Amino acid sequence: MIKIDNIINEHNVKSVGITGHINPDGDCIGSVLALYNYISYNYPDIRVVPYLTGKPGEFSYLNGFDSIITEDDGSSPDMFVVLDCSVKERIKPFVRLFDGASVTVNIDHHIPTGEPFATYSHIDDTAPSVCEVLYGALDNAKFNKETAECLYTGLVTDTGVFKYAATRQKTMEIAGELINYGFDFSEIIDGVFYERTFTQTKALAKAIENTQLLFNGSAAYSYVSVEDMESAGVKASDLGGIVEQLRLIKGVEVAVFIYPVQDGMNKVSMRSKKYADVSKYAISKGGGGHMRAAGFSTFDGINKIKQDIEAYLEKELS
Ligand code: 5GP
Ligand code: MN
Repeated sequence: MIKIDNIINEHNVKSVGITGHINPDGDCIGSVLALYNYISYNYPDIRVVPYLTGKPGEFSYLNGFDSIITEDDGSSPDMFVVLDCSVKERIKPFVRLFDGASVTVNIDHHIPTGEPFATYSHIDDTAPSVCEVLYGALDNAKFNKETAECLYTGLVTDTGVFKYAATRQKTMEIAGELINYGFDFSEIIDGVFYERTFTQTKALAKAIENTQLLFNGSAAYSYVSVEDMESAGVKASDLGGIVEQLRLIKGVEVAVFIYPVQDGMNKVSMRSKKYADVSKYAISKGGGGHMRAAGFSTFDGINKIKQDIEAYLEKELS
């Protein structure tokens, strides 16, 4: 296991940039801001900047949220850290910052799809969240409340509030240690997992209306179109949790949700419940993820996506 403190000291690091994957979720933002808070608190002389392509408002309670920079700011940090991301392409537009750094670090929990790309890599694809992996790379004697709250947010979001199958004893032990820092964990769980804005609720209604059950009810398939999104007044970033709702339909093993992201591109989110490995299909389409949660983006239209996925599901669910 790599240790962030050792890397900082050995390389005499004076400035750090941190990023995660595009369209950041709770584990991604949580890990990036956990490391941001950890370094700010323990190394006040180091300049540290969190870089992310988006700032979803439900995470604005995390300390450091206002410091997130969404574009390349032209700086040249000595050390650049990539969290919750297994491929360099998914950190665009921050590749220049990565390439210019003298020491790079990649900590992740996705199934690897390529060669290691950083000076130091620690990938644990059995970990339910990258926050759990990052926890092991930090010294827990040097946490503050802000760092703990960020890590807890990642644990909660990527385990579906400690219920997905990858959740393990260590996850619970880390969560137990973190809640002693005294943040309001009930509010975090409600805010990041259960609460929906009214527009998100309308988008969910559209998605549910469009849902079809396939293969004797073992697959749930849905989409929202550009027109649906316009009529509900939603953005792609409002649609993150919908696939989870499809997965919860009784009897469903695989849930598939498709939505337009930008310029004719569609995002496909896949989830499975017990046995189907959705990562294989997502990886074959140039995406990635985990056995039970994976995704990819494509310029294919909705009908073509559905046709191809049906062929995969027929094999996977038979
Ligand atoms: P979601 O469906 O919530 O966007 O993603 C589910 C999981 O698959 C997450 O771990 C996410 O990082 C991963 N994933 C989603 N889309 C892509 C993609 O286009 N490429 C890669 N490498 N991973 C993806
Ligand atoms: Mn993650």
